[in-house]
Amino acid sequence: MDKTNLTGLSREELAAYFESLGEKSFRAYQLFSWIHHHRVTSFDEMTNIPKTLRQKLKNNATLEQMITLSVNSSRQTQSRKFLFELSDGKTIESVYLPDDHRHTVCLSVQVGCGLNCKFCATGKMGFIRHLSTSEIVGQLITIQREVPFRITNVVLMGMGEPFLNYENVIKAAYLINDDYGFSISARKITISTAGIIPKIYQYADEGHKFNLAFSLNAADDTTRLNLMPINRKYPLEQCFRALEYYTQKSKRRVTLEYVLIAGVNDSNEDVRRLVKITNQLKCKLNVIPYNPIHVEDFKSPINKELNVFVQKVSVSKRIVMVRWSQGKDINGACGQLYAESNS
Ligand code: SF4
Repeated sequence: MDKTNLTGLSREELAAYFESLGEKSFRAYQLFSWIHHHRVTSFDEMTNIPKTLRQKLKNNATLEQMITLSVNSSRQTQSRKFLFELSDGKTIESVYLPDDHRHTVCLSVQVGCGLNCKFCATGKMGFIRHLSTSEIVGQLITIQREVPFRITNVVLMGMGEPFLNYENVIKAAYLINDDYGFSISARKITISTAGIIPKIYQYADEGHKFNLAFSLNAADDTTRLNLMPINRKYPLEQCFRALEYYTQKSKRRVTLEYVLIAGVNDSNEDVRRLVKITNQLKCKLNVIPYNPIHVEDFKSPINKELNVFVQKVSVSKRIVMVRWSQGKDINGACGQLYAESNS
């Protein structure tokens, strides 16, 4: 009989699990805290749980264990890129990105990705499989064991499209938010999408409080389609309608992510369209200078081009930020995640 993996269960599900074993449901709080707050690796370390129950758990259940195959540390920043092996031998990458006040972890949600955005290394892998809730949270647990600072922010925008693995991603976000675990506030958890429209509506209707980011990258359909094939199925106009619905329903703004690629999406016409979009939508805009990957012939903007672009876009009444990706020297920056040995 397969053992039950307890890392991906909510406190309510753990309570039901204990009841099914004939045990008291309050054990769920203890167990959840051991897994997500103390981040122990074995049932033996759960010292406030009786030995007989620990043995029962060992016989019937398991905790998510991913093997850390490598950790690459950036010489330029303190970023670290983790390569994890999952129980079926598939591999994924996750990144730890510290700065002065924030300690952010970028988590993967799929092995590979089927959306094939042209500026993204993960897209070159193709879709291999979804990650389970416990595999998503397991990345955070493992990284927090390794790094010296408390992780303050989580972004679900590593490998894969979060809204194509919707249930597991939303559940993972709630586990990370839980007061008995990491207790990271919903406002410090961001879920990104390339624009899976039905899921944007669902997300809005369900009233989740996590930040929503939309991977925009071009302000017109022709350019965006060249960069992001998903734009054929979900064109910009329909994406904006869905995002507007979200902002009205949630009373929150959406973050627009714009990877700036020299000569591709940085013209005066791009600026004009972008300003129009940002003025119409309740949003903030993050401009991310393109990070080179080996397989595509795009160029990063030089600093002067970037500054000119940002200056021009800043006539928008919305907040415009430049988000410098950390970890370029370890291929851990936005769009650079790529795990080999997944054939
Ligand atoms: S940018 Fe995101 S959605 Fe696009 S291919 Fe990469 S991982 Fe997938």
